[in-house]
Amino acid sequence: MVIIIGAGLSGLLTGYRLKKEGIPFKILEARNRVGGRINTVYGTNNTPVEMGATWFTNQHKHLFALLEELEIDYFQQHMDSNVFFQSSDVAPIQSIQIPSQQPSYRISEGTSNLINTLLKKLDKNDILLNQTVKSIKFHKNTVQVISKEIFEGKMVVLAIPPKLWSKKIVFEPHLPQNLMDVAKQTHTWMEDSIKVALTYSKPFWEEENLCGTFYSNTGPINELYDHCNHARSKFALCGFINSSFKNLTYLERRLSVINQLKKAFGVKIEEFIDYEECVWSKEENTFEVSDTFLYPHENNGNPIFSKTLFDDKLLISSSESSLQFPGYMDGAIYSANVTAEKIIRAQQNL
Ligand SMILES: Cc1cc2nc3c(=O)[nH]c(=O)nc-3n(C[C@H](O)[C@H](O)[C@H](O)COP(=O)(O)OP(=O)(O)OC[C@H]3O[C@@H](n4cnc5c(N)ncnc54)[C@H](O)[C@@H]3O)c2cc1C
Repeated sequence: MVIIIGAGLSGLLTGYRLKKEGIPFKILEARNRVGGRINTVYGTNNTPVEMGATWFTNQHKHLFALLEELEIDYFQQHMDSNVFFQSSDVAPIQSIQIPSQQPSYRISEGTSNLINTLLKKLDKNDILLNQTVKSIKFHKNTVQVISKEIFEGKMVVLAIPPKLWSKKIVFEPHLPQNLMDVAKQTHTWMEDSIKVALTYSKPFWEEENLCGTFYSNTGPINELYDHCNHARSKFALCGFINSSFKNLTYLERRLSVINQLKKAFGVKIEEFIDYEECVWSKEENTFEVSDTFLYPHENNGNPIFSKTLFDDKLLISSSESSLQFPGYMDGAIYSANVTAEKIIRAQQNL
């Protein structure tokens, strides 16, 4: 039995690959939901809005391959050549033209469509929610994983960001010091971000010929994009609030967001159906305080994570340990594919 820690994209995909080979596994997940940093929220009108991962580009080949394998549709992000731009608190918001950018894409029905499709292919009994792993003990032929229960297996996969396992899981015997040092200084992509989305009964910005894209140097919102669904039958705007606004209360933040957007979009911005936000630094199964300042993507994809430990009983996965596009969904997929291949090869050699 293989024990996979974390039911984010990398953990679920590893499970799916193992299931296809008939290799038994259990996925232990701390939250009461799967998906980790992928979380599509379906508001009042069932409008999908992303509180986590959203966009990908032509470079993300592993994601494209997985979408094709699972027969999941995707579509190009709607972008106008004109965008709203707020350069400072005092300057008026301008509509400016920006050079054309490389296209980005979104998953039809929301990014969680990918997670839910994987979930449907797995046996529900193989995924255990509300199981925060606290320690892992390696014995001669087995490994014990301790959450609120004790699980025993032959191999264990860390499908959670390195900073989390290095600070929250106790390993017996200890992991090598150099590995722990690197893991503690590995940035978890977007762990300190704030995502925001507003849903509407009509795409008033489109009807009034306003840009659906908004950039600001001042905040609270720094970036906002048209977030209508693939069919353009559900209407939303979605983007990022500057993380320095995390210490405001929900109501204070929401008020300052609306006041800011009113200056660009006018009073119709207040006619939203749902206001959704996620302050990721409050998510204890994603965010972890760093000992020192970490640059974005610091130590992501460090080759130290590619080594297996304790006679191949411990495998390090998750997006941040990927050698390709670490931090992104593409990295989570690459990592899961490589990890599953290692496990399958080890089983064949038994
Ligand atoms: C706001 C935001 C926006 C993003 N935007 C994009 C984007 O546009 N494009 C893109 O490609 N990527 C984006 N990303 C990154 C992308 O979401 C991740 O790269 C990817 O989802 C990581 O998958 P993962 O499985 O490696 O890790 P995670 O999704 O972090 O999954 C880890 C899982 O492990 C669980 N867990 C943690 N600790 C324990 C424990 N002790 N015991 C048991 N379970 C535990 C967690 O609850 C979680 O479910 C974004 C991320 C965020 C937060």
